[in-house]
Amino acid sequence: MHYPESTQLNLLRRTSSKFTVTVIVDRCKECGICIAVCPTKVLSISNMINKHGYRPPEPLNIDKCIGCKLCEYNCPDFAIFVEKVEQP
Ligand code: SF4
Ligand code: SF4
Repeated sequence: MHYPESTQLNLLRRTSSKFTVTVIVDRCKECGICIAVCPTKVLSISNMINKHGYRPPEPLNIDKCIGCKLCEYNCPDFAIFVEKVEQP
């Protein structure tokens, strides 16, 4: 199925047993704030380039995420979100 470009969200998402971190790739401006504020060094710059020419962060060390949401609260572009994984 084809969706118009405006409804497509290019997501970079990693999930641990506790938390999911999602990056809305094309909102990122590569400011690096999320990487700097993460207390457990979950995030690092990815190799991908978004449509504006910036490299978004990737939650490579997702197993170290403590769900503090500092990345989400500090991103000036609302490009990164953290959710708690619901336990069955
Ligand atoms: S929620 Fe906290 S620990 Fe998890 S990626 Fe964001 S800043 Fe790092
Ligand atoms: S804080 Fe937001 S805009 Fe800045 S690098 Fe992280 S995701 Fe991208």
